[in-house]
Amino acid sequence: MLTGIQVAIIGGDARQLEVIKRCVEMDANVILIGFENLQSVFSGANKRTLIAETLKNIDALVLPIVGTDDQGFVESIFSFTPLQLTEEIIAALPKKVQVYTGIAKPYLSKLMDKYNIPYIEMLSLDDVAIYNSIPTVEGALMMAIQHTDITIHGSRSVVLGMGRVGMTLARTLSNLGANVRVGVRKPEHVARVYEMGLTPFYLKDLKEQVNDADILYNTIPTLIVTAEVIANMAHHCLIIDLASNPGGVDFRYAEKRGIKALLAPGLPGIVAPKTAGQIIANTLTRLVLEHSGNQEE
Ligand code: NAP
Repeated sequence: MLTGIQVAIIGGDARQLEVIKRCVEMDANVILIGFENLQSVFSGANKRTLIAETLKNIDALVLPIVGTDDQGFVESIFSFTPLQLTEEIIAALPKKVQVYTGIAKPYLSKLMDKYNIPYIEMLSLDDVAIYNSIPTVEGALMMAIQHTDITIHGSRSVVLGMGRVGMTLARTLSNLGANVRVGVRKPEHVARVYEMGLTPFYLKDLKEQVNDADILYNTIPTLIVTAEVIANMAHHCLIIDLASNPGGVDFRYAEKRGIKALLAPGLPGIVAPKTAGQIIANTLTRLVLEHSGNQEE
């Protein structure tokens, strides 16, 4: 339980509702900032404004998945008032606080480092990334179904990358009856793909591996599907780029060649905001609990 622990939650989208719900269920003292338009009532959660005074006793500060922008503004779909996490507010945070965010852009990470405030980027945690790969892959399948006129079953599917998303994707496509090839750069990943009963290839051979592909899914966050690779694809091939912005595909060249290429960021929040919120809520409450235990020692 989080009894006696003060958690401030600033802004966010539908996913944050699951975080609020879990913190309230676990008996935390919850402060909501940027939730004026939120209709649901969470008993035990108090709405406040974003000033240093509000945060002076908190143990945990929870930011949305994208954290802040480059000026410290925090998005909230539940508020019309701009929310800015200024340097002054950050500097005044209590010593015991731990900050939780999906990702930390340079504005946030620089100030956290400057004032020695511990922060956790939730999306980079292995458990969160693996759980998140489930709604991500469901979203990728949704896009493949929407943008092709063939079934996934029997499709020649190429997956690039064998990380947390790539592995879930390759397995799911295979379970649906696709012919799956997976492009990787490490011999141990070649071995893993082989062990899974799929066809591995090295990324240096990517150009030769795409000429008969129906769908190519990229999970590698660097330019990997270059003009040279796209030039070797059939016109009907659909490219779904799951890698974080700006993705790993030469979209300009794909358009020029008339090949449909889609960048698909933020799929968990789009296809399954409730599940995505529960994933964050589960890990967050575990970490807050661990942190509060460590503080007491
Ligand atoms: P991950 O576990 O780190 O996997 C990344 C994969 O890319 C690994 O196979 C890695 O290979 C490979 N890779 C990285 N840099 C490479 C390079 N220069 N050349 C060749 N291979 C390279 O990441 P993840 O959790 O699977 O996430 C993959 C991407 O999807 C990230 O950009 C993430 O932000 C994004 N994502 C998007 C969504 C969405 O909704 N679209 C959801 C979740 C995640 P090695 O092991 O050899 O390094």
